[in-house]
Amino acid sequence: VLQLSCGERLESELRQAGFRVTPQRAVILESISHLKGHRSAQEVFDSAVARLPGLNIATVYRTLDTLHQAGIIDLFPAGPNSILFSLRDEANKHGHLLCRNCARVLKVDPAYFKALAETMRNTYAFKVDCEHLTLQGICEACRTELSED
Ligand SMILES: [Zn+2]
Ligand SMILES: [Zn+2]
Repeated sequence: VLQLSCGERLESELRQAGFRVTPQRAVILESISHLKGHRSAQEVFDSAVARLPGLNIATVYRTLDTLHQAGIIDLFPAGPNSILFSLRDEANKHGHLLCRNCARVLKVDPAYFKALAETMRNTYAFKVDCEHLTLQGICEACRTELSED
């Protein structure tokens, strides 16, 4: 059995999606797969630039956009001026509840978004991406602290 590294597996996914694997894309894919979890473009850059000196943040943004189009990563808002990226992980699908006060993120079962997604599809002919779908609000601790109902 041929064992592929995470980076190689992702490279083949990228090719299958019809995109070329450039050295920049390969290094950024490798970095994202090693970083795990939800990461900012800056974090991806910090990790990738060590392996690819001369890399610039604009290339990282462009590459993340390409990887998103290829369906390899998801992106989602995580507060003002913050977009986070994550490898698409079919085995660990989830949505987010983002607290607007403390920026804490709770993971939620995406099954809860199914009815919402169906309504949007039927009403607006719009297909909602439920991966990391983020609802903003206020968490229990902050509600108590701020005495919000
Ligand atoms: Zn909070
Ligand atoms: Zn997530």
